[in-house]
Amino acid sequence: MALLEVTDLHVGYGKVDALHGATLQVDAGQIATVIGPNGAGKSTLLNALAGALPGNGHQRGAVRFMDQDLHKVAIEARVARGVSLVPEKRELFASMSVEDNLLLGSYRRYQARERNHADQLPVVFALFPRLHERRRQQAGTLSGGERQMLALGRALMGKPQLLMLDEPSLGLAPLIVKEIFQIIVQLKQTGVAILLVEQNARAALQVADHAYVLETGEIVMQGPAAQLAQDPRVVETYLGLARTQR
Ligand code: ATP
Repeated sequence: MALLEVTDLHVGYGKVDALHGATLQVDAGQIATVIGPNGAGKSTLLNALAGALPGNGHQRGAVRFMDQDLHKVAIEARVARGVSLVPEKRELFASMSVEDNLLLGSYRRYQARERNHADQLPVVFALFPRLHERRRQQAGTLSGGERQMLALGRALMGKPQLLMLDEPSLGLAPLIVKEIFQIIVQLKQTGVAILLVEQNARAALQVADHAYVLETGEIVMQGPAAQLAQDPRVVETYLGLARTQR
């Protein structure tokens, strides 16, 4: 079943076109990935889906989530419906503790007077024992990998149905990348659907169910992730020997 359906999405910034008619879908409980090089439009896609385009951004095309049109739905209202973005810049509150950053992730639920608004805290701590150990530490003093975990954990506090991850492996050492991808698989097992945008095609194709290749604003290939991982053009362009260390 399609949770998110994007049809012929065009996005531009002023007169510059960044996305030329992207069509894709994310099924309930599945991981879809969008791989592609720098500047292909991956962040643009996620920001448009989150309702978070900058002031000069504009879009047309259809975006439906759980069979409802997201057009003109503001960013906060999208989060309330279950669409959550973990942006590339992890945007944490550096001087606040790990735990307080996590609790901010449930602030919307608190405002909505949900009685158990912080009920995901033990779930997040179980997924990320390292955040539990460091719950009193200032977020600004965390390592890069721990910050990514905190950004993921904070999004999970809102109990999303669809988690959109913008390059979660960016700037992280290989071992930590491995750990983050293991966590992404665990997240899927909790039932949340994931739209994962990555330059690390090898790792993304390993965890995803379905994959799209985005190049200069266009989806040029798509298919089951395992199938794309065998495709000669994908192998040559994105999985070549030089990339095995990523
Ligand atoms: P990366 O992996 O480097 O983050 P990306 O695939 O996420 O790349 P985008 O950040 O979506 O690519 O950028 C797509 C295109 O849109 C690029 O040409 C970029 O320069 C342009 N662009 C992005 N944001 C803006 C903006 N606010 N104003 C004008 N152009 C922008």
